Amino acid sequence: MQKYIDQLNEAQREPVLQKDGPMIIIAGAGSGKTRVLTIRIAYLMSLGVDSFSILSLTFTNKAAREMKKRISDIVGASEAKNLWMGTFHSVFARILRSEADKLGYPSNFTIYDSQDSLRCISGIIKEMQLDRDVYKPKQVLSRISSYKNSLITVKAYFNNPELQESDAMAKKPRLGEIYQNYVEKCFKSGAMDFDDLLLKTNELLNRFPEVLAKYQNRFRYILVDEYQDTNHSQYLIVRALSDKFQNICVVGDDAQSIYAFRGANINNILNFQKDYEGVKTFRLEQNYRSTKNIVEAANTIIDKNQTKLDKIVWTANDFGPKIKVHRSMTDSEEGRFVASTIWEQKMQNQLHNGAFAILYRTNAQSRAMEDALRKRDIPYRIYGGLSFYQRKEIKDVLCYLRLVINPKDEEALVRVINYPARGIGDTTVEKLTVAANHYKRSIFEVMQNIDKIDLKLNSGTKQKLSDFVTMIQSFQVINENQDAFYITDHVSKKTGLVQELKKDATPEGMAKIQNIEELLNGIKDFTEGQREIDGARGALSEFMEDVALATDLDKDTSDEDRVALMTIHLAKGLEFPHVFVVGMEEDLFPSAMSMSTRSELEEERRLFYVALTRAEHQAYLTYAQSRYRWGKLTDSEPSRFIEEIDGQYLEYLTPEESNYRYKPMIDSDIFGDIDKSKLRLAKPIAGAPPKNSTNNEPKTDFNVRKLKPVSTNSTSGTANLFDNKLVAGNIVMHERFGKGEVLNLEGVGADKKAEIKFEVGGIKKLLLRFAKLNVI
Ligand code: ATP
Ligand code: MG
Repeated sequence: MQKYIDQLNEAQREPVLQKDGPMIIIAGAGSGKTRVLTIRIAYLMSLGVDSFSILSLTFTNKAAREMKKRISDIVGASEAKNLWMGTFHSVFARILRSEADKLGYPSNFTIYDSQDSLRCISGIIKEMQLDRDVYKPKQVLSRISSYKNSLITVKAYFNNPELQESDAMAKKPRLGEIYQNYVEKCFKSGAMDFDDLLLKTNELLNRFPEVLAKYQNRFRYILVDEYQDTNHSQYLIVRALSDKFQNICVVGDDAQSIYAFRGANINNILNFQKDYEGVKTFRLEQNYRSTKNIVEAANTIIDKNQTKLDKIVWTANDFGPKIKVHRSMTDSEEGRFVASTIWEQKMQNQLHNGAFAILYRTNAQSRAMEDALRKRDIPYRIYGGLSFYQRKEIKDVLCYLRLVINPKDEEALVRVINYPARGIGDTTVEKLTVAANHYKRSIFEVMQNIDKIDLKLNSGTKQKLSDFVTMIQSFQVINENQDAFYITDHVSKKTGLVQELKKDATPEGMAKIQNIEELLNGIKDFTEGQREIDGARGALSEFMEDVALATDLDKDTSDEDRVALMTIHLAKGLEFPHVFVVGMEEDLFPSAMSMSTRSELEEERRLFYVALTRAEHQAYLTYAQSRYRWGKLTDSEPSRFIEEIDGQYLEYLTPEESNYRYKPMIDSDIFGDIDKSKLRLAKPIAGAPPKNSTNNEPKTDFNVRKLKPVSTNSTSGTANLFDNKLVAGNIVMHERFGKGEVLNLEGVGADKKAEIKFEVGGIKKLLLRFAKLNVI
């Protein structure tokens, strides 16, 4: 143990050795917060603290697994095995299962994912005959979610006229009723959604003092990583559980708080000192992850935020290479740049694929990257997006399995009752739903009693319904003695799912069957793994729990060496030698939807801080001048965040006018529809090399260049041709594409584009304000 403690620096050692009492570690990215938590747990165990009594909450289950593995290396696997570690959702789902009866839930309750919740809400909106354009299911769900995370139950909602008024003002006066129906439906189905896992835990701890006492006594030491992103509901749970012993250690970085949109409350970190008595505060300042260039550049960014705790982050690491900035014409060209850079780096420096990560603001951006990587045969893995378990064919199998565990699960039942087709039509399902609502029972229970209820169904239909019931019950019998693999294999065959997919001989159809095989392989891994650990059966219910609570990062089951593609949100806490932050464009990053208030913009800036600080050795910032967004080719300007980095840390790979940003000096909307180009000043990005200089020596007195106005009637050389008299028929020379003929011109001012047929490369549409053209 001492060996591991010796490896820490002085500032890290202190919080590790501080055994008891409330403490908070506030420190910047890469300063060893997660490492301190890990070593601290091992240290507590070495002092004789029972591993059963340590609870640690992490941002992903993957992070928990990695932590556990490190702790196993220090204290031994058998000791580490009993530690309670995982996300809030997975830890408290486990507790809820053993206490479910107190809340009137079965212990085999289903966990609805957001797809299930959305379907359920859509169904309610339909049943209530409300307008889907007013009551958009997604919006309704997110409203309900925010109520739950603020612990506003249905009852609390109806006792609060202000909330009702605010929904009425938002033209959704019946939101409360939808909320009520949704809660009732989930309850009837024996289902909890993600927010319920936290809400019901709070309910459990509040309503049952003996349960609270039990877990307070059990979890004598509580540790929370990424504390800055806890929401109110999570905060209250931690607060309640740690109240007795007050051995609570939280670590976080206010500069990395990026989940406000999901209800995370940065005040949880800011108010920690007030919540507990005698809080010890620790600060870590030395970053071990990144080069000086990256650390210092990241500091200059976060400095622009007004709401922040003052922190110092420095590193003893080398300066390393500068952050490389790359501009391209389109997003596909951006993809090609990223793929070829990875390819070259791999060749030159013998790097593996896993050394690279491509981070983006929105999932939709992955496509251009994927295309380019595929063309270069570079293996990659996308994290997030439509996850494996949500693909239709997989979800179908899983819904059958959910029914095996909990036949009341209404979303699962409605999804598969007639898939593969077995002659149970929509009208029948509607009748069943109405009856279930009427009797306040689940649809499955109605089906079990179909002979006793008069639903005006013909005998053929009744027979089909009872056949379905018998089939599910037969699965349940098998499930009692078999492992998860056996039952899944059996279900996918006996329900006719596999046969149904085999009918489709197209490549897509075949891919679906392969996916089911992959699911089975994954389950096999799981059952074998369970046997290895403790000789357990590898029961279906345990596998399903893993699936329901897998965060997007956890679906990484293989150890294959791949480039990682993910959103920045998902990359929190991770590190990679080489990081590409792509799509560095205004309206994309910062997102157009997050620029209306200062606090939104500051959250975007924190997100950028998170992105940049994932890089250990080399960071790349790339942007495209135009990209397809919502099916339209849209022009873009480089993100303000590039400009915000002190220029001394940047190296431009694409110099000259490419680095000039065009910013409206006046809010042109006030002036109506006028030519915006007249109102613009060209503004070089801070640190952009002046024209004709080598890009290795950017000047640092960017103030001078920042104010340099663009000459709108420039005739010199290549820049800003949009004001020149380019006409169809002109023969032009382009720096990269060579010689071409102008076919057509469209748009005005800054948006003016030319369609040019190049001798090599064919027809291209270029935005004149960026295109490097010379008329010859
Ligand atoms: P983030 O804010 O991004 O979550 P963090 O503060 O949790 O970062 P860690 O992930 O714990 O930082 O550490 C960053 C890197 O620095 C890791 O690779 C870790 O192993 C390494 N590291 C931390 N402390 C030390 C140390 N004292 N000596 C050597 N390496 C260290
Ligand atoms: Mg960390």
